[in-house]
Amino acid sequence: MFKVRTLTETKTIITSQFGKIRLGTEFVPLTAAIARFTSSELVAETHIPDFDRSTVDGFAVISRDLVGCSESIPAILRKIGATKMGETPKDRVVSGQCYYVPTGGALPKGADAMVMIEYVEDFGKDEFAFVKPVAPGANMIFRGEDLTPGDLILPAGKQLNAADIGTLAAMGRTEVEVFSSPVIGIISTGDELVPPESDLKPGQIRDVNTPMLSAAVQQLGAKVISTEIIPDRYELLKASIENLLPKVDLLLISGGTSVGERDNLPLILEELGQIYVHGVAIKPGKPTIVGTIKDKPVFGLPGNPVAAFFMFTTLVKPLLYSFRASEIEQHSFEARLTRAVSSNHGREEVILVWLQADQVTPVPSKSGLISSVSRANGYILVERDQEGLPKGASVNVYLL
Ligand code: AMP
Ligand code: MG
Repeated sequence: MFKVRTLTETKTIITSQFGKIRLGTEFVPLTAAIARFTSSELVAETHIPDFDRSTVDGFAVISRDLVGCSESIPAILRKIGATKMGETPKDRVVSGQCYYVPTGGALPKGADAMVMIEYVEDFGKDEFAFVKPVAPGANMIFRGEDLTPGDLILPAGKQLNAADIGTLAAMGRTEVEVFSSPVIGIISTGDELVPPESDLKPGQIRDVNTPMLSAAVQQLGAKVISTEIIPDRYELLKASIENLLPKVDLLLISGGTSVGERDNLPLILEELGQIYVHGVAIKPGKPTIVGTIKDKPVFGLPGNPVAAFFMFTTLVKPLLYSFRASEIEQHSFEARLTRAVSSNHGREEVILVWLQADQVTPVPSKSGLISSVSRANGYILVERDQEGLPKGASVNVYLL
């Protein structure tokens, strides 16, 4: 018999057993890089921007020329040209001159600040009056101000977001080196399960876990191989595990993880591999198994979709990050409970909540109602020896 572990103990066991697993690396085109994880740090090789640029429509000036100017004593400068977008001016401005530059255009040599067109008066014959001094560097970005060669753009293990893709494009990168996508095998088990497209006969339910876990895994830049629903039969489950295992980096099996008569996974794991954890002291999520077959992590998640979702989020998700040398940033916020929460199950309890500003409201949820996860944007944990939490209590909310 296995000792029931706490959630924290389970996480520690997962880290010590699987924390060193790293995936291979590959180059992918920037267009396919979203949600992938960088495998090495990326350092800027060029100046971005590559020239001094204006951030306003207006006039490039030498700031010294405007020292002391005012409404009553304007500085009068002569416009000697205008920048065309996509070109750099060949001219250089000297004292007494200015140059028209549109937003994003290049400043001519000699100029060190921009004045917005709204603050300049046209005196005609290319003469313009300036009534306010301007600080050097005002309304412009210097060459290399975004990035200079040697600047760290992205650390290793960073999951690429849309802004990262933009930054790499600015650098002229068309490819980026990333960790290979983990391949995750997903198996749902249960005689009562039918695929989502099926009509239900009495007693049947639709398989929630395969589509849900597939989506969760894909959000983490991983690939999915899923099987048909496997009935509660030892031989069938064993055969599908043996078939899937060589093709995947990690196996997620949901349902049939308790020690009930029809629960085959524990027996199969004992036969083909090893079990590290069987039973986690958390509600929901108790019938969770962590094991291995041929050095690959195998998770037996509870069939209850809410529990499967939560255990995936807390146990599997961090591991999928660590496969790519990355650590998850778990955001939590302190907020006040709008309602009392009761809890006395002798286990740590997960309470789904809706966080709004600094107020947090428990989402009504009985075991297994997947729609309650849809209605939640976070969860709180009530410790095992806490009887519950009173209205107004300050709690830590973890975002989903
Ligand atoms: P089990 O862990 O197999 O004892 O299942 C616990 C509960 O979750 C039962 O009510 C099952 O019908 C339900 N369940 C198991 N697998 C799934 C699934 N893939 N989708 C939806 N519900 C499931
Ligand atoms: Mg079952």
